Amino acid sequence: MHTDITPLDIEEVALRWRRTKIVATLGPASDTAEMIEKLFDAGADAFRINMSHGEHDSHRAQVNLVRDTAVQKQKHVAIIMDLCGPKIRVGRFEEEQILLEEDSEVIITSRDVMGTPGLIPSQYQNLHKDIQLGERILLDDGNLELTATAIDGTEISCRVVHGGILKNNKGMNLPDSSLSVPSFTEKDKRDAKLAIELEADFVALSFVRDKDDVLNLQNFLQQHGSGIQIISKIEKPEAVTNIHEILACSYGIMVARGDLGIELPAERVPLLQQELIQLARDYSRPVIVATQMLESMITHSRPTRAEVGDVASAALSGTDAVMLSGETAAGKYPVLAVETMNKVLREIEAHQWKHNSFGDAKKIGDSTSDILPVRDAVARATLNLASDMKLQGIIIPTRSGTTARVISAARPSAPCIGVCSDIQVNQRMALNWGVIPVLVYEPQTHDWRTLCELINKQVKLTESGHTVLLVSGFNDDPALNEPVIKILMV
Ligand code: PGA
Ligand code: MN
Repeated sequence: MHTDITPLDIEEVALRWRRTKIVATLGPASDTAEMIEKLFDAGADAFRINMSHGEHDSHRAQVNLVRDTAVQKQKHVAIIMDLCGPKIRVGRFEEEQILLEEDSEVIITSRDVMGTPGLIPSQYQNLHKDIQLGERILLDDGNLELTATAIDGTEISCRVVHGGILKNNKGMNLPDSSLSVPSFTEKDKRDAKLAIELEADFVALSFVRDKDDVLNLQNFLQQHGSGIQIISKIEKPEAVTNIHEILACSYGIMVARGDLGIELPAERVPLLQQELIQLARDYSRPVIVATQMLESMITHSRPTRAEVGDVASAALSGTDAVMLSGETAAGKYPVLAVETMNKVLREIEAHQWKHNSFGDAKKIGDSTSDILPVRDAVARATLNLASDMKLQGIIIPTRSGTTARVISAARPSAPCIGVCSDIQVNQRMALNWGVIPVLVYEPQTHDWRTLCELINKQVKLTESGHTVLLVSGFNDDPALNEPVIKILMV
């Protein structure tokens, strides 16, 4: 036995890296060089730029700051540019806002006019064509509810079910209607071109309904020579219905609970979240749980206990990432919000690691899909080897990131070192559960033993004489899979 070797503290190695990733949305509260640096230090793994707000010049500046900080901190982070999609909004009011009284009648018009008490302009010009009698119109994140009672040309008469104040440009959701508007709008095209110009790692597509919505954007990106990957935001009932085809053609998904909880009854969201996480894992796709995670931290320095529970529960369900929106974009405590998330996730993960409950091997192979049959078997073997041999690391040389995604989806107990010579792949791997991206140069990757020793020196997984696992060989096209598992002594 290796009595002459003092092994690194296995727990110290295992818990050095947080597994669940944190996505921070940038905005006026956080888009200075100083704040971005603090968000890096607090533990942000990915940054979301919400194209619903701000101008292209400010988005350019944000991307440049993130990339500069990444170089300075030598940390790979992902940039997600979030296209707003066909978010329908009300127009503006002469007095900035109107009061909707319960049980009163109001008119929604698709004409481009200023609103007055009793008249609500909609920015969506086909509203009167897409809506049917009796369908609901939800305003301001669902706080106000109307039902369509009569339609006359461009004018829709509605009864107010839940009233309140309606301000300029508030959102409008039509959960009962099937909309003719494309999910990839003209504004999205301009924004997607910016994402291409800035070499974003991901674009997120809002209000996806089916695979055609995703393929449309994919074609656009490919026509412009870009390999940017797509994250489909699941926030429409149709997306839930078509989830298998959407997962199959997306890089990953976001459980966009804000709009999802308006379009569907909010009480359906928690179980849907669990199901979507599991399904995403079945397809080896990263999944982000988003919206209102630490909402009260927009104005308070401490989260509510319910919010802490929400972050913990998303982690326990095995999400790849959790996201902050207004908390980091426009809140009073952006850095504290990331630090809080980090602490909650760390606590959960330390517990899971100690109880060997990361992998939940039962769930692997439950998939009814036959996309990658070999995948499940190899993932399960990796999981078992990692826990049976108490391995301190899994080294994953990967060209496209696919092998890292496959192994990450199994949630092994040992840290996964994703090794790639392509910086963009490394940036993408920043979003995958438990993957630590490490950049190598092409000539170093020929001999696997040398590679492992090199990586080990860089990230200090283990002392010499101990074993690490190397997994490689998965391809996006299952027919080209040639998986390899190697047990190597370094
Ligand atoms: P949004 O998407 O913040 O762009 O609306 C997230 C959500 O709806 O939850
Ligand atoms: Mn949304």
